[in-house]
Amino acid sequence: MKWSFRICEIRGTQVRVHLTFFILPALIGFGLLTSEGPLAALTGVAFILALFTCVVLHEFGHATAAKYYGIRTPDITLLPIGGVARLERIPRKPFQELVIAISGPLVNVFIAAMLILILRQFPGSLWIDDIGNPGLIPMNLLKINLMLIVFNLVPAFPMDGGRMLRAILAMFMDYDRATQTAVSLGQMLAIIGGLFGLLNAHLFLVIIAIFIFMAGGQEAAFSRIREATKGLSVSDAMITKFRTLPAHASLNDAVDALIAGSQHDFPILDETGKVEGVLLRKDLIAALAEHGRTHPIRDIVKEKPPSVSLDYSLEAAFEILSASPCPTLPVMDSSGENLVGILTAENVGEMIMVQSALSSRKKTKGKSGEPTVA
Ligand SMILES: [Zn+2]
Repeated sequence: MKWSFRICEIRGTQVRVHLTFFILPALIGFGLLTSEGPLAALTGVAFILALFTCVVLHEFGHATAAKYYGIRTPDITLLPIGGVARLERIPRKPFQELVIAISGPLVNVFIAAMLILILRQFPGSLWIDDIGNPGLIPMNLLKINLMLIVFNLVPAFPMDGGRMLRAILAMFMDYDRATQTAVSLGQMLAIIGGLFGLLNAHLFLVIIAIFIFMAGGQEAAFSRIREATKGLSVSDAMITKFRTLPAHASLNDAVDALIAGSQHDFPILDETGKVEGVLLRKDLIAALAEHGRTHPIRDIVKEKPPSVSLDYSLEAAFEILSASPCPTLPVMDSSGENLVGILTAENVGEMIMVQSALSSRKKTKGKSGEPTVA
């Protein structure tokens, strides 16, 4: 994720913080410093750190459950609205998705139970609740954990509740329909929540509602892509007529290739024919302005993007493509040695249009009772 940086790595999972995550503690810290003094500000920041820990533990709840099913979690990113655990893949088995989704909120249930026990064991003087005293921390943490549980159980993407709902629906219908139904419900809730926020001047609620509405749309689109690419392999969708450039070519050669065809990005081959990288149109244009036409392209080619094999499933390749900063992936033959094609989001998109046209034709033909041709 852009604007996020790594703070530590635990059991193969990077913990990253998005820059916007600091807006909230900074505002609270500054507000308390000016209104209540340094002790209150310090307590406020300590509270935020404790909250931060609860959110990280919640995400590790998901990661631990995913690990149980053999799914890695490369990173966890903390945003002001909570954490996001990026799983390597979402399991297609509804029960597994349900377990992974519920494991996060269960961690908060556990933390809340512990805090209740602690508060009962040590009531009164140990937890002085005057403003600025640390006594506020356990009580507020308890409230926050209860809020996290409720918030995450709202049945809307990207919250855990949305995933749980999809998983439960997917036990009774196909995965794509389950996703579309869960998304529709989540977006309806977002509209109701957003209107309520507008009428009651809760700006934060309105922002969350917009965010949920958009995240739902994204999830629905991803599900449609998965559905349309089901059963297809990279070789079905890759571009086989494409140009490459030798690593010793100049920017001028790249400009000629760019103008001559509709290809935007060019695989760069070294002297032995191996892929050295991909020259992107935007990098080419930027380099032209800086270095002029005679500059060698080798200098401006960024690190090698991930490559995919032609026998990969299109679904897996599309996931790699969406996660990669490079919009064009080299496609290698089964040996992994030779470049045989390129894969772009645009041509995967075309493939999806073709597939959905074909499947809607099948559906309408089926409805009118005409025989269908397999
Ligand atoms: Zn969660």
